[in-house]
Amino acid sequence: MGHKTTKAKPKIARIYYIILFFLIISTVMLCVAFFNYEKSNSIINERIEWLVETNNQLQSYNNDLLASISTLNGRVEDCESSIRQYESTISELNAEIEQIQTYRDSYDELSAQNNELQSQYDNLSSKYNDLESDYDTLLAKNQSLETQLNTYKSSSNVLSTSSSSNSSSYNESSSSSQSTSTQVYITKTGNKYHRGSCSYLRKSKIPISKSSAISQGYTPCSRCNP
Ligand SMILES: [Zn+2]
Repeated sequence: MGHKTTKAKPKIARIYYIILFFLIISTVMLCVAFFNYEKSNSIINERIEWLVETNNQLQSYNNDLLASISTLNGRVEDCESSIRQYESTISELNAEIEQIQTYRDSYDELSAQNNELQSQYDNLSSKYNDLESDYDTLLAKNQSLETQLNTYKSSSNVLSTSSSSNSSSYNESSSSSQSTSTQVYITKTGNKYHRGSCSYLRKSKIPISKSSAISQGYTPCSRCNP
């Protein structure tokens, strides 16, 4: 019996040791597993915290971006409205430019007409000057012819006075009738009377008989000597 128990005791003890060994090993493994679990759990928690924090930051950024987007939208609307205003102003200015262009065209036309009229005026003016010089030369010729006529008349008067008394009386009567009925010309402003050909009569030429001109106080012109 004792031998049996001594034989059985180490068997049982060996089983216990084995069980104890496994228990210790499994406990150690559990401890290690728990430690690992705790460690990984804390890492995961840290990561979750980081993610939450990052998420909060991203949400605040997102809110900032949304606010900027809304302000930018407002600015875009402002810009669009001012662009519409500028466009209407541009169309108004274009209409004014078109009107100015038409004015310019008519100005060019009128300017061309003006140049043409100016050249016509110049032509007429040079012709007028030519005619005036012609008139002056003709006037000078006329005066010389009249002085020739006067000298001829006076010489004929001398001849007639030296002839018979009959013809002399006839000559006197004719000269007196000539002095009353001779037509002379006066001007609006002057106090002289002139021959019809006198150059002083360019501005005004009022016909009057020589006798009435004298009775009204007019005196003969020294240039044409009427
Ligand atoms: Zn005169």
